Amino acid sequence: MRRTVAILALAAAIGAGGSAHAITGDRPEFRKLAEDVYAYIGKLNDANAMVVVTTEGVVLVDTGNNVTDTRDLLAHVRSVTSVPVRYVVITQNHNDHSGGAALVSPPATTIVHERVATQWASLRPHQITAWRRRFPERTAALERLNPTDTVQSFSDRLTLHLGGKDIQLIHVDDPDNPGDIAVWLPKERILHASMAGYKDRHPDIRPDYSHGTTGELLKQLKAYLTLRPAMVVPAHGPVGGGWLLETMIEYLLLARDSVQEMMAKDLSPPAIEAQFQMKQFGDWDRTEHLPWIAATIHRELRGLGPQVITVTERRLSGVVSSAVQDGRFLTVAGSDGAAVRLRVTGDTVFQGIADRTAVRPGMTVSAVYEVPEGIVPALGYDTLELTVTR
Ligand SMILES: [Zn+2]
Repeated sequence: MRRTVAILALAAAIGAGGSAHAITGDRPEFRKLAEDVYAYIGKLNDANAMVVVTTEGVVLVDTGNNVTDTRDLLAHVRSVTSVPVRYVVITQNHNDHSGGAALVSPPATTIVHERVATQWASLRPHQITAWRRRFPERTAALERLNPTDTVQSFSDRLTLHLGGKDIQLIHVDDPDNPGDIAVWLPKERILHASMAGYKDRHPDIRPDYSHGTTGELLKQLKAYLTLRPAMVVPAHGPVGGGWLLETMIEYLLLARDSVQEMMAKDLSPPAIEAQFQMKQFGDWDRTEHLPWIAATIHRELRGLGPQVITVTERRLSGVVSSAVQDGRFLTVAGSDGAAVRLRVTGDTVFQGIADRTAVRPGMTVSAVYEVPEGIVPALGYDTLELTVTR
């Protein structure tokens, strides 16, 4: 109880959290954390970014949830400095963090972990097309390039000494770590905690281990705690103190205990996924992530390794009946009357529309999407192509 009070007091003191729904505001916020260090706090728990300004160039840490956020983030950077962006550090290989790099890199260098560089070297054609077209004014510059042409990669640690600032990039080694990087500013004692940092939002952990595992995230969190950060920028959610890492450790331990208890009662995997609730974190949003967290933990505790998911491509034409979260989640009523839920990502190639934020109910669309075998796609089917015809 005393701990909860302390957490609430600190959250109030730094202006984090605050809303009754324990979520970030409905507009992104650009907040100064220290001299020359800023956080771009995504709206409604969208992805955060961090900015370090030096006399020798700006370092962007992640790039905003949507193309609109990337432009907004850059406008904020321009409001505090005219120095160009020199490096973009990608803390995790997901489009809500990496998708905006194409706006500034090249000439900026994109720094990724070597595992991410390997993944980028085997991107599928539609993903490379989506990367080139994400920002129309960049398409010509990127036409002959591949994402790997823009990157510098490293394995364990890399320190940028830039304009008198030290910026340490840390990778905590583990076979299940997909290439997450924490960014540590030792002088300011500020940490961007990458995928291991979540606040007020259930983490997006998946049974194919593409976002890591609870086991390796705990390993990261414990390593980051030894740095004793004064301030933590999570991947999603409000900025907090070092306690934010402890809260996430409690979250993951509780999640693992809860799945283990259900396994001890011989519950089937579907029953475990259905009953996994995390009631102690009942005010966190994105409850749609819960079944996959449970499925991932079940695999981890059984020692099963990542789930190999095979997909089948399908096509659909119909009318958009709902578009939520900036067009990330669509429901499309097909010509046969059946409703299909689509997840529109940074890898989706658009025709007839600039990006997903412009999708509206009533639009007539055709889509190419992937149906996975053997799992319930809680977030909808991943969309490869979306063409708006009317
Ligand atoms: Zn994210």
